[in-house]
Amino acid sequence: MNLSAPDHIANYIAGSIQAPINGRYIENINPATGEVYSATPDSDIKDVEEAIGAARSAFPMWSTTPVEERFKILNRIAQLIDDNLDSLALAETNDNGKPLWLSKRVDIPRASSNFRFFATGIMHFSTESHNMEDKAINYTLRQPIGVAGCISPWNLPLYLFTWKIAPALAAGNCVVAKPSEVTPMTAYLLSLICIEAGLPDGVLNIVHGTGPGCGSAIVAHPEIKAISFTGSTRAGREIAAVAAPMFKKLSLELGGKNPNIIFADCDWDKMMRTTLQSSFSNQGQICLCGSRILVEESIYEKFKHEFAARVKKLTIGDPLDDNSRQGAVVSRMHFDKVLSCIDLAKEEGGIILAGGNSVIIDGRCANGLFIEPTVIEGLGPHCRTNMEEIFGPVVTLQSFKNEDEALQLANTSDYGLSATIWTQDVSRANRIAAQVKSGIIWINCWLLRDLRTPFGGFKNSGIGREGGWDALRFFTEPKNICIEL
Ligand code: NAD
Repeated sequence: MNLSAPDHIANYIAGSIQAPINGRYIENINPATGEVYSATPDSDIKDVEEAIGAARSAFPMWSTTPVEERFKILNRIAQLIDDNLDSLALAETNDNGKPLWLSKRVDIPRASSNFRFFATGIMHFSTESHNMEDKAINYTLRQPIGVAGCISPWNLPLYLFTWKIAPALAAGNCVVAKPSEVTPMTAYLLSLICIEAGLPDGVLNIVHGTGPGCGSAIVAHPEIKAISFTGSTRAGREIAAVAAPMFKKLSLELGGKNPNIIFADCDWDKMMRTTLQSSFSNQGQICLCGSRILVEESIYEKFKHEFAARVKKLTIGDPLDDNSRQGAVVSRMHFDKVLSCIDLAKEEGGIILAGGNSVIIDGRCANGLFIEPTVIEGLGPHCRTNMEEIFGPVVTLQSFKNEDEALQLANTSDYGLSATIWTQDVSRANRIAAQVKSGIIWINCWLLRDLRTPFGGFKNSGIGREGGWDALRFFTEPKNICIEL
């Protein structure tokens, strides 16, 4: 199949590729070059209603399709993603600005893994039974909910889009999904893949548009019974305000301000290598990136000098060049935001140890949105720089004297998504892991993901968990059936 990026992206509704009803489009800009490379539908409630109608019509058939058949279709989608790795990776990089090698190695392979994982998962999914000795037996049915709404962000476009869609479909729901309007291309290409794979019409509908114009129409529609959202805490709060009084099921994966806690007894080389990655992978635009680096006082100076020196050596460049470690940030709006956060850090008294500026790249990327990876020290835990999510290539350093202070600093945040702990002392690692208020803790590693594990955050980082059985439970409604013996 030919998966080249079109001039005009289209919606995928009732099994067919359609222009938005209102005929309006948004410019889709390649952030590495500044060029408009496609037009994205600026869909509104009319397209959303059509998509929900199609999903409702398909639900009786899809929810009763044997799991083995669902497994086969979802596996075909996974295979077609693998077969089209190069075209999908290029589309992701042109949309997002991330290095092409990263799209090839991480984003697209993970999208096919998501489909394969949940296709297999539903074949093994089982429910509970509760025996009341000689009186009765209860068993639980888990039934698909109906039409689910899946809304995703721009940082890992196809990766996070499929992370929601795959379990929803595997569990027998029909879906109306909206990718980020900032990075819509691979979601559009996924529509073509679903058609090729033989996914029945209306089972998955992909509507493109903005949050206020299209996303909010999905959230508010009474036929959408469950919403799986990944994005900012601000939008999550707006969605919860609409969905909660309608008693919709909600899974919210939101922002983070993750601590990296580094003790003097860590494996220095591994810690240094991994902390560079956890700070600046995808230009720091991964919800799991560590943005507050907490270092034990006795190694603080050594860490600071070596880390800053290594950061200065990271190659910023054309995302299509295999040597680029850092690509472009995703959009002009985000570029301005990240630079204003660096200005704020300076106003708050922060000292820039590395980076701090935008970068102009020669040639094809002369109008691209590039920012130096930036390291800042000298700020206390309560300033805005250390409290607010930046979601770009910016980290701060703070030192701590002992375990208690490390914990206190780590937990001084309204967010609680993830944390890393670096120490060779197993007892200390486990003690701290139990006390850090975050949903995901990595000890002496980062971003090592097992798709069966619960994924999600504490506090303002969200509610609910994705992954494994948690996702299949979210997308099904339990029903207890009691039989008196
Ligand atoms: P965003 O909240 O602006 O947008 C996310 C998606 O929601 C987009 O598709 C957008 O169009 C839509 N949207 C926005 N407002 C909406 C509304 N009121 N109703 C319905 N839909 C709406 O987020 P973003 O800028 O695209 O992504 C960056 C954010 O995502 C960061 O805060 C980051 O931490 C977070 N994120 C979290 C995770 C996680 O797993 N916790 C993963 C990736 C990104």
